Amino acid sequence: MQKVVIVGGGHAAAQLCASLIEGSFAGKVTLVCEESSLPYHRPPLSKTFIKDPAAEPQLLRAESVYQEAGIDVRLGDAVTAIDRAARRVTLASGATLDYDALVLATGTRARKLPDVPEDTENLVYLRNTTDALRLRDALGAAPSVTVLGGGFIGLEIAATAGHLGKPVTVFEAAPRLLARAVSPEASAHVAETLREAGVTVRLGVTVDGFERDGHRICAVTVQGERHPVDLLVAGIGAIPETALAEAAGLACDNGVVVDDHMRTADPAIYAIGDCTSFPYARWGKTLRLESVQNANDQARTLASVLLGQPAPYGALPWFWSDQGALRLQIAGLAPPDTERVLRPGAKPGSFSVLHFAEGHLVCVESINAPIDHIAARKLLEQGKNPPREQLADPAVPLKSFL
Ligand SMILES: Cc1cc2nc3c(=O)[nH]c(=O)nc-3n(C[C@H](O)[C@H](O)[C@H](O)COP(=O)(O)OP(=O)(O)OC[C@H]3O[C@@H](n4cnc5c(N)ncnc54)[C@H](O)[C@@H]3O)c2cc1C
Repeated sequence: MQKVVIVGGGHAAAQLCASLIEGSFAGKVTLVCEESSLPYHRPPLSKTFIKDPAAEPQLLRAESVYQEAGIDVRLGDAVTAIDRAARRVTLASGATLDYDALVLATGTRARKLPDVPEDTENLVYLRNTTDALRLRDALGAAPSVTVLGGGFIGLEIAATAGHLGKPVTVFEAAPRLLARAVSPEASAHVAETLREAGVTVRLGVTVDGFERDGHRICAVTVQGERHPVDLLVAGIGAIPETALAEAAGLACDNGVVVDDHMRTADPAIYAIGDCTSFPYARWGKTLRLESVQNANDQARTLASVLLGQPAPYGALPWFWSDQGALRLQIAGLAPPDTERVLRPGAKPGSFSVLHFAEGHLVCVESINAPIDHIAARKLLEQGKNPPREQLADPAVPLKSFL
């Protein structure tokens, strides 16, 4: 019987289990996760979970799903080494597991502030439930919140803390928020919405010093100016968790390098989700994405391989971020220097930014316009390219082009 060992218990691992179950996989599956919970929804951790003291992690699949399928789930244990010649992994507990197929679904870890001890009492990074519980407790007690980094996670936390009535300041080094992910129009709208909600947004500024008081940071210096700190949230990005793959001699380049079937160069080892660097045919480029869509769709691709019906990965990327009352949704990917056209939404404060590259619609960002987002995803999946002046006309529903 084929033995599959999955390393990691996040969105990609859970979807792989589900797709293997759906495909009546005949082998033996073992899932090893260093976290002590079954795979759960990670996005709420920066949104609803930290707002509500009674909120619990939401499992992606019930425990009975794994049990009934005979999946051996090992929680609170980590894979520490891969012996590729013997096709065996070693766990932190000392156990070993033999595999015919090994799947790395190890996700990312938070990028850390250099020169700041990780055990600083009032400093929080957010990746998992343990971090979120710490953040939730700290948010309740802190008179004010300082967020370093104007990326998705930092801004979601800023919006949530603002909603809880805390004075919040966001410091971002780039001249605009979410600079690597969205258009200037969407960035400006996000900044304006945060400011309207009472959040102070400082752009184009770098933090050059941390003032300590015992185990706490009591202030940061921003371009020479002292800013007192009660709670410091560092949302400065994530790094693919590739340590195991690197130690095993697998190619890594901003992620574990895989082909469009999620295969590494070792025919017995695969990788899926946030930890992968993969070829994206629509662009003819190598990408690494951090999104639930990508984790799920790569898991489905790998399931097709393990089930003997391989189909290459080519799913349309899509993403969402909730920042208080603002819902930002992105369908497709925008290469740099696209031509942009604004499509007003049905309600005040709602709109979409349509991106065109070489005359083709390649990406649609929607702000509080979920109906346009769903239609845009279908348009992009179908490769349709209606005239842009019609696409920009709010009187014409996007779905009418499908
Ligand atoms: C706070 C937060 C909010 C987010 N919000 C959104 C959102 O709104 N929309 C969106 O699309 N995406 C969002 N994301 C991103 C999304 O959660 C990730 O893209 C997704 O979780 C990736 O799934 P994954 O399975 O690849 O990795 P992960 O879900 O990160 O899971 C990896 C797992 O592997 C475990 N692991 C690592 N190494 C080992 C080892 N050696 N042995 C055993 N276990 C190991 C880790 O502990 C972890 O449990 C958010 C992420 C965070 C942290």
